[in-house]
Amino acid sequence: MAELTNRFEYIVNTSSDFITLISRNYIYELVNDAYIENIEKSRKDIIDHHVQDVWGKDIFESTIKKYIDRCLKGENVQYVDRFEFGSSTKYMHVSYYPYRENNGDISHALVFSHDITRLGDIEAQLINYEFRDPLTGLFNGKSLAVILDMELQKAGLMEENNMRSLLFISLSNFQDIQLKHGHALGNTLLENTGLRIKELLRDGDYVFRYEGNELVVLLSSPAQEYGPAAVAKKIYDMVTIPYKNGNLNVSMNCHIGISLYPKDSDHPDQLIEKAAEALRNAIEEDMPYAMYDRKVHEYAVKRLKLESDMIQAFEKEEFELHFQPIVDPRGVIKGLETLIRWEHPEHGLIPPCEFIPIAEKNGLIKSIGKWVIFQAVKNMKAWEAYPVYISINLSSQEFNDEHLLPILQSALKQEGLKDSGKIRLECTESMEMIDPEQTVEKMRKLHDQGFEIFLDDFGTGFSSLSYLKDLPASTLKLDKIFIDRIVSDPGCRKFLRLIIHMAENLEMTLIVEGVETREQLDILVEEGCTLFQGYYFSRPVNRKTMDTLLKENRPLPFQIS
Ligand code: C2E
Ligand code: CA
Ligand code: CA
Repeated sequence: MAELTNRFEYIVNTSSDFITLISRNYIYELVNDAYIENIEKSRKDIIDHHVQDVWGKDIFESTIKKYIDRCLKGENVQYVDRFEFGSSTKYMHVSYYPYRENNGDISHALVFSHDITRLGDIEAQLINYEFRDPLTGLFNGKSLAVILDMELQKAGLMEENNMRSLLFISLSNFQDIQLKHGHALGNTLLENTGLRIKELLRDGDYVFRYEGNELVVLLSSPAQEYGPAAVAKKIYDMVTIPYKNGNLNVSMNCHIGISLYPKDSDHPDQLIEKAAEALRNAIEEDMPYAMYDRKVHEYAVKRLKLESDMIQAFEKEEFELHFQPIVDPRGVIKGLETLIRWEHPEHGLIPPCEFIPIAEKNGLIKSIGKWVIFQAVKNMKAWEAYPVYISINLSSQEFNDEHLLPILQSALKQEGLKDSGKIRLECTESMEMIDPEQTVEKMRKLHDQGFEIFLDDFGTGFSSLSYLKDLPASTLKLDKIFIDRIVSDPGCRKFLRLIIHMAENLEMTLIVEGVETREQLDILVEEGCTLFQGYYFSRPVNRKTMDTLLKENRPLPFQIS
């Protein structure tokens, strides 16, 4: 064992990367030789010392602590930053990995830092005028090769945030404008356009004046493959706004070609070639933008169209609420889950799983959520006479919105309702993971105001059971994936027993979702489940059909498609 430990120690100390092990209370427990040599401190000044003692309070609190905390929650964290090591400045690529004990608990953050100062030096060099276009002050064509190379090297080091995108922008009628209005005006417009584009971008993105009437944008942090198309659309909309001044009215036209790293190529020259090819396609087909990969292009166009349609969907009243019964073993309706539907004039019924994630990205989810709450409460009022509750789905953004409680209260007030007792709020496990303490506090507030909490899609997240007992949720909704295999897989049945037992111990109610067949129901009843939801009893139905069902007061199942 001693020999093995020595061998590990030897390996760790031979590494030219910096390796450290930091405990849960931010104490250095291990540092390798490379670290000691560079930090210009002795080992005894680091080992058993708090990170703050080594790096100072400011740096510790503003950066290092945040990364350690994220890592201790189970995340692999990576970033590139500048550090003052003793008397020298270094650019480091730093990775934090959770270090787990045998029982799986995370006890330490294991930190690897790789010196990439060479890349930092290139960045410093680029301040130089040689790399700038004298007219616009933007980076010039020569610097594109250097910066692209640097960005791809950085991307190659990262496990996350490793996508890059090139946008070739051709100001198609620039020569005509110069001929008609003169070079001076043409140049002013070009300068102006470059600046306007820059304002649309994030820190860390670049704009180049490539050559003549072409500008190039390098995006250094697109999160999804369709992301650059959204940026291209913004650039197009902005560039084509007419310039008006006195009698002058000039409209600039543009086309944009997009390539993606690493999808289209991992080689800088080829990325440039592919963006140029995409640009030729955009010009030939007179499209505002074209992505090099046809499939990604079509997906992006569809998605962006959906996004702009969604904004109008409110005015056109294309959203509708459907309701799905939650029933007891005899099929008697106990509650109704509200589920949103979007009746799109061209694409027909769009399921929420396609548009809710988009709404979460563009912020529209807050308006949609508010609309859902008001509609749900309106229906609650209409069905006041029936002994059924109404549950509302909340996405994490809605849940975290500080206006949630006031919105719920004003919806109740509008309907003249004092009692919130018939509203249930469905939250998912993933919400708890973001900030568990804050989530518990928020749930408690809602609960104290009379809004009962349902924990939705239970079993699909990573709920820590010890944490579950602190949640002020009354009910668990067991996800459909367990029920799908309940007939064929004895393991699922075992798991169900465990969940039932746990829910009983926590004094929580259990609703089983996604019950589709009689066979499934029989097993669930045999195991002691008491509340169900699923196609076997009823699919989600519109308000009118639900109205009839409630009036008829007939136990389910029945056939509705
Ligand atoms: P969810 O909250 O888990 O809702 C249950 C989903 O399962 C619904 O899909 C429902 O139609 C479907 N379902 C119910 N029983 C069965 C069954 O027996 N078999 C099968 N295959 N499916 C069944 P839907 O309506 O497409 O909604 C999908 C998700 O979209 C919901 O999952 C929820 O997360 C979200 N969502 C729906 N409406 C809203 C809303 O108003 N606000 C928010 N934030 N999210 C919503
Ligand atoms: Ca739900
Ligand atoms: Ca669910």
